[in-house]
Amino acid sequence: MYKIAVLPGDGIGPEIVPEAVKVLEAVSRRAGIEFQFTEALVGGAAIDTRGIALPPETLELCRQSDAVLLGAVGGPKWDTLPPAERPETAALLPLRKELGLYANLRPAFLYDSLVEASPLKKEIVTGTDLIIVRELTGGLYFGAKKREQTAGGEMAYDTMYYSRAEIERIVRLAFAIARQRRCHLTSVDKANVLTTSRLWRDTVEDIKGEFPEVTVEHMYVDNCAMQLVRRPAQFDVIVTENTFGDILSDQASVLTGSIGMLPSASIGGAVALYEPCHGSAPDIAGQQKANPLATILSAAMMLKYSFKMDQAAAAVEAAVGRVLARGYRTPDLYVPGTQLVGTAEMGQLVRRELEEG
Ligand code: NAD
Repeated sequence: MYKIAVLPGDGIGPEIVPEAVKVLEAVSRRAGIEFQFTEALVGGAAIDTRGIALPPETLELCRQSDAVLLGAVGGPKWDTLPPAERPETAALLPLRKELGLYANLRPAFLYDSLVEASPLKKEIVTGTDLIIVRELTGGLYFGAKKREQTAGGEMAYDTMYYSRAEIERIVRLAFAIARQRRCHLTSVDKANVLTTSRLWRDTVEDIKGEFPEVTVEHMYVDNCAMQLVRRPAQFDVIVTENTFGDILSDQASVLTGSIGMLPSASIGGAVALYEPCHGSAPDIAGQQKANPLATILSAAMMLKYSFKMDQAAAAVEAAVGRVLARGYRTPDLYVPGTQLVGTAEMGQLVRRELEEG
């Protein structure tokens, strides 16, 4: 039996998360493994009810669970709060920190039937199947920072800091993931300019001997940004530091047709967190227009990474592929000639495919 903390959050969160939960229930029936779901408040919904974006009981529930499924947080209603109290900063960052989640995994996989939905030409984007492993708790976002008035005018700085130990653990994880895929790792840095990048590159070189089956290449981040749109199929696993990973993973997200298709996993601690890459999409919330597939695919990542149920994860991914191949589309993916469906209907179609497949 696995305990799963369910945090729907804000905006479209309460529409998409239940669809992923129902898919997990279908998996549980097939596999004969019990999942126990417990729901809790997070983000704006928690601010409204409890006055705080990450209530202690929510954090405690996450700590006591085997995995966490999150929707999204934030929205215009809470945008006027001071930055430190807003759902994104006051819920997501502490949650990742408290759970010790130092690695963010973002696969970008293009389903054949969605080739036309990608902004890139078919011949360029076909075959895209990569995963970005982003360092999540170090670097520029967490180093010393300051903004102040000086005699020479206003100034500001941020500091990019990495220890060898921080780099080693994320790089080893990326090698291990590459070993289970197509055995190719691209380490992305800016070693021609940044000292942290030179330490990063040296660390990768020192570790690569532990994974002789994996081929490694180093790529500058600016070149990687270009290669992602020129020849995305060349990549298998990309590992990079926090800021570069933040930017590259959003860039990679558009390759697959819609941000509504992109799952993610944040791992590294005892309890991992699974959530779609997108936000709370307030513009379409409450209208059954949201694509639940990113959340359903995040649940598939949970099966794979937290519960080691690789076959069940593959079955969910295949069910999603079959639903798309049969022409069903939420509005974000719709093109004439396909069948438009809402959030709940898309979830139901995936469950049916899973049960029949
Ligand atoms: P967003 O990802 O919520 O939306 C961007 C665009 O993508 C919108 O047009 C939206 O309708 C569309 N979209 C997003 N998810 C979709 C889905 N599943 N199906 C169909 N269309 C989808 O980003 P934003 O508009 O910049 O942010 C909205 C709010 O979400 C903000 O408050 C932001 O801070 C927050 N946010 C939260 C997270 C998170 O919880 N991890 C991440 C990013 C943004």
